[in-house]
Amino acid sequence: MKFASRLLTFNACPEDPFRPIATPIYQTATFAQEEADTFGRYDYSRSGNPTRTVLEDLLARLENAERAFCFSSGLAAISAVARLLSVGDEILAGDDLYGGTYRLFSRILDRTGVTVRYADACDIEKFAAQITPRTRLLYIETPTNPLLRIVDIRKLADLAHQHGALLCVDSSAMSPYLQNPLDLGADIVVHSATKYLCGHSDVTAGVVAVKRPELAEQIYFIQNGEGAALGPFDCYLLLRGVKTLKLRLDCQQANALKVANFLCAHPAVQRVHYPGLASHPGHDVHVRQARGAGAVISFETGSFEVSKQVVEATQLFRISVSFGSVNSSISLPGCMSHASIPAEVRQARSLATDLVRLSVGIEDVDDLLADLERAFERAACAVAAANRAAEVRERQVV
Ligand SMILES: *Cc1c(COP(=O)(O)O)cnc(C)c1O
Repeated sequence: MKFASRLLTFNACPEDPFRPIATPIYQTATFAQEEADTFGRYDYSRSGNPTRTVLEDLLARLENAERAFCFSSGLAAISAVARLLSVGDEILAGDDLYGGTYRLFSRILDRTGVTVRYADACDIEKFAAQITPRTRLLYIETPTNPLLRIVDIRKLADLAHQHGALLCVDSSAMSPYLQNPLDLGADIVVHSATKYLCGHSDVTAGVVAVKRPELAEQIYFIQNGEGAALGPFDCYLLLRGVKTLKLRLDCQQANALKVANFLCAHPAVQRVHYPGLASHPGHDVHVRQARGAGAVISFETGSFEVSKQVVEATQLFRISVSFGSVNSSISLPGCMSHASIPAEVRQARSLATDLVRLSVGIEDVDDLLADLERAFERAACAVAAANRAAEVRERQVV
């Protein structure tokens, strides 16, 4: 079946005599047993809940995974993956990571005796040179956030396996509609389901999907043992959101391409990062491993002041962290989602302070373009006025 159909044709409620079309919310922590020593399919919602099972089974199918597991956030999902490691083990991670992942790796994992090293995963040779006998996990995002750099999943999977390590890909920026890392050799795929899978900015959730049964058992053990599974109501909201994943993303991508072209042609914009542009570094690799460019775009204006003014002047693009929602959003990653990365590290990774990130939604694209056009005009006026005021002050000082 084609993807759009697969999003809708699943058993919403196995074993229910009323055969509901939408999955009921099993808002219960416990399930009664027939006998003291006989357990039913469910006993306690941390260990398993029918609403969650429907969602997890659907997501496993969408990622061509053995099993998928839902967590209370993307970071909870990533934490569960990190729990596969023991004291002395190392993670080698790409160096353009989501800020929260970087914080988890560099400030929390190190307390558990797991070391994380970072290298540019777009340069396979450089990355490979950082592998040590202790490296057990390669961890990458592609496209990365917010620079949208492209990492070759197939090559990284081969590299991991040559060294007896696992490859985990954070595929939040693509969703299973646009990219299936497990099909390209990755062992684990994680999602911040808060982004495209949910799509409506009303749930935080995370997914871990794995290819092999042994790994599935380990992740299940961690999910149940640590208790960060997604609650029934959030599972229901996510199930509802996922049904329109293709519909939303088709619209968002079409809008994003028009916005990217608009930005490329705008005199106030110095650089546009969007995997859908033929000029984007790694475009060829991306086209080989993904089925679309997504709807996140970032760009540089060359001036923090101009960028800040643009971000504050847009009206349809609301200032907010996160991406993937049906509503368009705009942000300055350097002050927002990536502020948890120390300034010197941000600089070393060429995460410029004037970098603006857009997440393009499903509004009418003409309105989105007009909103940006107006914001650039206002930013130019505001910056010119500020410069004039500074000049006047300087003259007064002289
Ligand atoms: C948002 C995000 C996360 C973290 O997910 P939460 O749901 O916010 O915990 C991880 N990775 C990427 C790429 C993200 O964009």
